Amino acid sequence: MTTEGLRWAVRTDVGRVRQQNEDTVHADGTVFVVADGMGGHLAGEVASALAVSTIASRCAGGVGSLDQLGEAVREANRRVIEQSNDDPEREGMGTTVVAAVRMSNESSCRLALVNVGDSRAYRFDGHRLLQLSRDHSLVQELVDDGIISPSDARHHPRRNIVTRALGIDPDVQLDLWETTVEPGQRILLCSDGLVDEVDEPTIESILRVETEAESAADRLVEIANEHGGRDNISLVIFGDPAPNGDLLPPTEEIAIPIEKPSNIDAGTPSTRRIGHRAAKVVLATATALALTVMLVLALIWVRSGFVVTFDDDQVVVLRGREVLWFEPTQVAVGPYERNELDRVSQDLVRQAPRFDRLEDAETFVAERLVRDQTFAQDAGIDT
Ligand code: MG
Repeated sequence: MTTEGLRWAVRTDVGRVRQQNEDTVHADGTVFVVADGMGGHLAGEVASALAVSTIASRCAGGVGSLDQLGEAVREANRRVIEQSNDDPEREGMGTTVVAAVRMSNESSCRLALVNVGDSRAYRFDGHRLLQLSRDHSLVQELVDDGIISPSDARHHPRRNIVTRALGIDPDVQLDLWETTVEPGQRILLCSDGLVDEVDEPTIESILRVETEAESAADRLVEIANEHGGRDNISLVIFGDPAPNGDLLPPTEEIAIPIEKPSNIDAGTPSTRRIGHRAAKVVLATATALALTVMLVLALIWVRSGFVVTFDDDQVVVLRGREVLWFEPTQVAVGPYERNELDRVSQDLVRQAPRFDRLEDAETFVAERLVRDQTFAQDAGIDT
């Protein structure tokens, strides 16, 4: 379709595996949205449809500022949460959203963009495909932390866990930014059902060959299904055709202002899940590691040292300390009982002197403890 020189195409396809299509798409020449719903019992498609209809109605005619788009998305978030709270069957439903809206106060084709979740916005400048949005997903955080490579992320078993979505957190954090569509450039919005099946070089080559939005959209859905179609496949392509077919030089990546992600609670019964932030995972791992190290050090400390003491009036050498459920263990028995020792020696043992080495403890027993003279005489022992 076209309006004011802008051409666009929109597709949503159930794919080859899923029974339902939980994605919702919208394009009217001013507002372009892709939302990927999640949640059981048809809740995902309710969430994505609610989000898209709210954003489309609140942004009809374009937006004058990023704040206006942001408020529309926050309104969508509130409505998804309200429906989720009102209907037990829809509890926990959520949706990603990526949207581009023409700015009404700009003469050029300036766009306001928003992203929450792992649906994506790309720009194709006639030469290169450039991802404009940043995924809010577990695997993206693993990539950012250098734990996995971007190519590993496409096949990671937990690639469907998103860290942000509408419908979860009343104070949802949004990525909001502005960009332009120059003549010869196209914007692609899509759900993960496209990019999980079709890698970016292939998308780029299709957009290069298929210069019409409609034919490009058809080919992208077709190849995603050829590669398996394991998820719903949704996309919007729009752009301003180049005058005389000229192509602009490649564009540079724009900086996207990214707000700090919020913590998001438990997942849903859907195959797509809303996960804890990877930072939480990393923090939990670091905490567990620190606790393990502390426990090992505590065990070493508890088992360290030797003490000379009485055990049922028998002089003994014990190893370790009595802490919580740990008991020192007996490693040597001295030649004396309590009543065999003189008073000074009894006092020494009562103080339970501690030694680092067993030999030192044994030397103490042999050299510092003295037999009581009266006891020795009564027992006929030479001292
Ligand atoms: Mg999906």
